[in-house]
Amino acid sequence: MGLLSEGSPLSWEETKALADHVREHGVNQFINLYHRLKDRQGDILKWGDEVEYIIVKFDDEQQVARVALRAQDLLAELNEKELADPKGVKSLWRPEYGAYMIEGTPGKPFGGLMAHFNLVEANMRYRREEVTELLAKDECVMSITNFPRLGAPNFTYPLAQPRPEDPLSSARSLYFPDEAIFPGHPRFKTLTRNIRKRRGEKVSIKLKVFKDTKTKLPVEGAPPGEPDVVLLDAMGFGMGCCCLQLTFQACNITEARRLYDQLAPLCPIMLALTAASPIYRGYLTESDCRWNVISSSVDCRTEEERGLVPLDKQKFRIAKSRYDSIDSYLSPEGAKYNDVPLTYDETVYQRLIEGGIDHLLAQHVAHLFIRDTVSLFSEKVHQNDNEDTDHFENIQSTNWQTMRFKPPPPNSSIGWRVEFRPCEAQISDFENAAIVCFVVLLTRVILSYQLNFLTPISKVDENMQTAQKRDACRKEKFWFRKSSKTTEQRAAKAQAQAQAQAQAQAQTNGKNSLNGNGLANGNGSENGDQEEQQPLTNGTAKMNGHGNTNGTTNGTTNGSTNGSTNGSSNGADSDHTDTDDEENELFQLLSINEIFNGKPNVFPGLVPLIRSYLQSMEVDTDTHCTIEQYLRFIEKRAAGELITTATWMREQVLSHPDYKQDSVVSERINYDLLKRIQGIQEGKQVEPALLGQGYHSKTKTKDFIPPALQKQLAKNGCCEEK
Ligand code: ADP
Ligand code: MG
Ligand code: MG
Ligand code: MG
Repeated sequence: MGLLSEGSPLSWEETKALADHVREHGVNQFINLYHRLKDRQGDILKWGDEVEYIIVKFDDEQQVARVALRAQDLLAELNEKELADPKGVKSLWRPEYGAYMIEGTPGKPFGGLMAHFNLVEANMRYRREEVTELLAKDECVMSITNFPRLGAPNFTYPLAQPRPEDPLSSARSLYFPDEAIFPGHPRFKTLTRNIRKRRGEKVSIKLKVFKDTKTKLPVEGAPPGEPDVVLLDAMGFGMGCCCLQLTFQACNITEARRLYDQLAPLCPIMLALTAASPIYRGYLTESDCRWNVISSSVDCRTEEERGLVPLDKQKFRIAKSRYDSIDSYLSPEGAKYNDVPLTYDETVYQRLIEGGIDHLLAQHVAHLFIRDTVSLFSEKVHQNDNEDTDHFENIQSTNWQTMRFKPPPPNSSIGWRVEFRPCEAQISDFENAAIVCFVVLLTRVILSYQLNFLTPISKVDENMQTAQKRDACRKEKFWFRKSSKTTEQRAAKAQAQAQAQAQAQAQTNGKNSLNGNGLANGNGSENGDQEEQQPLTNGTAKMNGHGNTNGTTNGTTNGSTNGSTNGSSNGADSDHTDTDDEENELFQLLSINEIFNGKPNVFPGLVPLIRSYLQSMEVDTDTHCTIEQYLRFIEKRAAGELITTATWMREQVLSHPDYKQDSVVSERINYDLLKRIQGIQEGKQVEPALLGQGYHSKTKTKDFIPPALQKQLAKNGCCEEK
């Protein structure tokens, strides 16, 4: 969930008194790190996922399922292997907000070979099996976005009761006991307390109940005058949800800024596609996603900041929670789509400008720093701003947005990264792997074909709300950028060029430098990436999409070394064409199906664009199969042929014999739903509506890697840190 500092947390009063101190030094630290790292070049593509899991305990006799408050014990065991062999483990495990949650990532990031797509699902399966080995027979590790009865009576094992009146309680929730907050690190309870204290009252999360024929109003606990609202009152309701995130390393800061921008408009789209959480506190709701829940669950804004009373003690009105969709683009191409006024402190912004930060990045950082620290450790108060970055990370890691722009950590081999954060956790490893591989491929296509998805921030915000509506994936429309003809032409041209070059090279020396960018001249070595060129054989096709920035379109030899403020020279031709278009025609309302599968004369479709990119790559059969089954799954879900997890869960509830048309997900329904999910994730239960027929990965065992690839992967130092 963010930075885990060691030490003793300060009280809220002490923390509050140091807010400006953290701000001042955090900004200095950013300025210093920027100058140390802004010219860093030639990092290769690396990427990795994060999956969060809930530990469920089944009581088969009573037919009840509860969350098992076991994360701390499990982590102690899971981390043993890492402690013994930090570089050799295949997975890494970290705490999350819930005492029933854990977060797993691959032991090392994946890299720039197409063959790496074969490893994701197997690694996810390995993680699941690794945890399962530590569990009792009646326990199960599940990648569900929300536990449907989280906050309903007796939802934890062991049982714990909320203590709303206890001044020592961190959450003081009516529903979510402090025991359900991860006990092994003070960060989680401290954040809970400080967010509540800063706000001046408990957080308030409001969801419309799904009104069925016999829904009883007011819903239990509904706020006065809002009888159809399911009210949730604790950070745990949001931060206790699971998600699927992925992080990419860019070749340099310019590419990172560009990827951040291009992926931002895709966040609501991917949220709608991955919708998986329609049930809260035992009620079916009108929402399919966790996003607004988690956003409200850490909304520390005061009444003044929320605009409920006139400004007096506070500096600004603030439009959004610190957990929300991004507020501004970072690349020069994105600048004109920053159509929502950014709130920030002028003096902080000026200090960044005087510190040599360009306008777009300065306003981004100044905007992050409108937030006060809500968690500070005594050992971390005094820092060396030339070396440390903790104060910067303190604020950065408590701005939980759809995208995160991650600077390289101090003294590490890691480059500029971008994190994609909107997706909901899916039931099966297959689905999670499909989503991850799809997004990684999309980044390669964006860079190679110089695609432009930029959409005004106000419209992206609107899409975020649309995405969470019931069955948005099949029913709603989203603002999406119409592609100019040149996008398709450019894609076709790039593909033809790559193929021609592949043929020519194959004829001359039997080798090919497949850089994965689909452009003929973009191999990594021109970017200072000194990796050996790979023979055109199984799975070694490289996809360091950064090679493309020295594209044929702008004629520069190394477009990617441009400075942070002008790195946009590539893709310029598309922008010209687009700005010539009527702006209001540029953005159209498209369905998820049209966005993914295409709409004639409007947009070629994300899946066809990826397929076209893949055609320009030499991909071995195994890898091709792996990717194809993921793409087929995604195109079918987008087309509505397969339903989202959220829709499937609703159907499970509505068709359950115990369901009383009253929106209530009883203990029995919850139990049966989770049992069925367990069957799906173990591959024992076939759910054609969710996964179709025959979507079963070949990677049957946890260690399975197609033999032909093993050698190649070993040779290429798969996943090795530089
Ligand atoms: P956070 O919780 O701050 O988002 P994590 O460490 O939990 O970060 O997850 C980061 C993800 O990034 C993991 O999947 C990891 O494998 C991946 N990763 C690690 N190093 C790199 C790198 N150099 N480039 C890209 N991704 C990386
Ligand atoms: Mg996490
Ligand atoms: Mg993490
Ligand atoms: Mg993360």
